[in-house]
Amino acid sequence: ILEVKDLHKSFGDHEVLKGISTTIRRGDVLALIGPSGCGKSTFLRSLNLLETPTSGQVLFEGTDLTSPTVNINHVREKIGMVFQQFNLFPNKTILENITLAPVTLGKKSKREAEAQAFALLERIGLKDKASSYPSQLSGGQKQRIAIVRSLAMDPDIILFDEPTSALDPEMVKEVLSVMQELAESGMTMVVVTHEMGFAREVANRVMFINEGIIQEENTPEQIFSAPKNPRLREFLSKVL
Ligand code: ATP
Ligand code: MG
Repeated sequence: ILEVKDLHKSFGDHEVLKGISTTIRRGDVLALIGPSGCGKSTFLRSLNLLETPTSGQVLFEGTDLTSPTVNINHVREKIGMVFQQFNLFPNKTILENITLAPVTLGKKSKREAEAQAFALLERIGLKDKASSYPSQLSGGQKQRIAIVRSLAMDPDIILFDEPTSALDPEMVKEVLSVMQELAESGMTMVVVTHEMGFAREVANRVMFINEGIIQEENTPEQIFSAPKNPRLREFLSKVL
């Protein structure tokens, strides 16, 4: 579904990504791990061109997103994104937050979008919050709404950037379990995470980035039980 070819990204003379190539297939749950500042967010944001690569290509379903003829907004409708800071609209109700994009973009009628929103809210146990405002919800509830909001666009893939990092520990689990359910339903996901438990148990592949390159990419079993790269070993010894 996504193919990344020799992706480079510099900010000024600071080269953050130094040639990353990988393929993400339908149904993949790819966990992206690595030390702070290694470029995980930059890589993730490059996948839907929120960051413009300095060089290299990102192909979504075979279309090169870096090509100037591509309508990137159209492509982004198919690539959901969930951030650390939820990014819900504070002055809109939960129901409006979920239905706004599909209705405004003409993907669904208001009725259809609302029916789907209620079904999604039911699935995550927050149906009773439909007319609440984000400020009335806990962090864990807000993040579950942010996930549901991205699902309302029927994306082909969802990118998560540290979705649980801003949450109190007791709320991490409820968000991870929604993500786990999503993974089990077959959603293609790329997840930047510090939750090694999630990477180990839910992801089918783990990618370790350091110093601008993929140092190691493998199954969770191999990454956690038999890491080959010395930097990965050092990283794991600090976080596990
Ligand atoms: P963290 O785990 O802390 O979120 P990260 O792996 O996501 O880190 P990035 O946010 O991708 O790291 O940043 C990688 C490097 O690029 C950092 O050195 C950062 O300072 C730099 N950087 C990121 N965005 C910009 C920007 N817009 N302008 C200049 N430098 C940037
Ligand atoms: Mg980051």
